[in-house]
Amino acid sequence: MPTIVYEERAYACEAGESVLDCLMRYGVLLPSSCQNGVCQTCMMHAIDGDIPEEAQKGLKDTLKIQGYFLACVCKPDDDMEIRQADTEGRLHEGAVSALDRLNASVVRLRLRPKNPLPYQAGQFINLIHQNVIRSYSVASLPQEGELELHIKLVPDGRMSSWVHQELQVDDPIAFYGPAGDCFYVPGNRDQPLLLVGTGTGLAPLYGILRDAISQGHTGAIHLFHGSLHLDGLYMVDVLQQLAADHDNIRYTPCVLHGDAPAGGAVGSIDDVVLRAIPDLAGWRAYLCGDPEIVRKLQGRVFLAGAAMQEIYADAFTFTPH
Ligand SMILES: Cc1cc2nc3c(=O)[nH]c(=O)nc-3n(C[C@H](O)[C@H](O)[C@H](O)COP(=O)(O)OP(=O)(O)OC[C@H]3O[C@@H](n4cnc5c(N)ncnc54)[C@H](O)[C@@H]3O)c2cc1C
Repeated sequence: MPTIVYEERAYACEAGESVLDCLMRYGVLLPSSCQNGVCQTCMMHAIDGDIPEEAQKGLKDTLKIQGYFLACVCKPDDDMEIRQADTEGRLHEGAVSALDRLNASVVRLRLRPKNPLPYQAGQFINLIHQNVIRSYSVASLPQEGELELHIKLVPDGRMSSWVHQELQVDDPIAFYGPAGDCFYVPGNRDQPLLLVGTGTGLAPLYGILRDAISQGHTGAIHLFHGSLHLDGLYMVDVLQQLAADHDNIRYTPCVLHGDAPAGGAVGSIDDVVLRAIPDLAGWRAYLCGDPEIVRKLQGRVFLAGAAMQEIYADAFTFTPH
């Protein structure tokens, strides 16, 4: 049974248990959010001991070399001595510059960072409120100055309820980040791009789409935005206008139930995508939103010919309470 030393105390880690679960079992409070190795909120620093490979997946090489790892997916085989990761350089402050409604359950939050923030459209940041930390994808481009987030109200959701019901323009807001590799990579302007998202999975795709345009992408870009019902779609006019303004952009709104939206489709979004583009060889795909749909799409897009390294995905995972 490996021993975890943290703040000069030793904790016995059970076989197959993560460092985060072990410390929480002993009542140690640590920042964490997705518990899936995605949001990077639980990043820690190993002073001694071997770090399992899985625990550094998705971290920048510079962080890996220094011994940083993600406590939620770190299941040690041997003893480790660890400490909290240095948050300097990752913790940012800003203020709310605008809050407006995109549909009945989604608000657009614009925030002005206190200091310039290097990021890529489509990455995510982790908002902090009291002891809660949650990830939100960035729909804006760095040159726009403000960060744009699309936040859906989750029933009884601690962060989303605060944003929807309490947060006001000019309120201060703190966040970690940016993180994630779901963003436009320049260098292959002719490559066709497939963007598929459900719900607020549109946020990173809207950023990636506009980034690709601003960087002169000439290949086809096909955006599919899915929702259960018509009223779950948003920014339909803006996206239709973008498609009308650019010959290489196509936008397909899609619903699972009810009538098809104008210019869109009814059905499961993976079926709609594969019906429209059965052969995805040579395409780069960005898949965002509901975790189950993202997982399903990853498999189907791969089987339709897209190379594994050309499939970027941000599953909006959450912890069941
Ligand atoms: C990389 C990443 C990017 C993300 N980007 C966005 C984004 O751009 N916009 C956005 O709105 N969200 C995004 N999310 C989800 C977001 O981080 C939160 O999980 C979400 O806002 C709920 O947080 P909460 O504190 O309001 O709810 P919680 O207090 O965490 O949850 C309240 C209850 O609802 C359940 N629950 C939480 N989320 C869901 C869900 N989706 N479906 C069903 N039940 C749920 C919980 O299990 C719990 O029982 C992203 C997540 C990840 C990992």
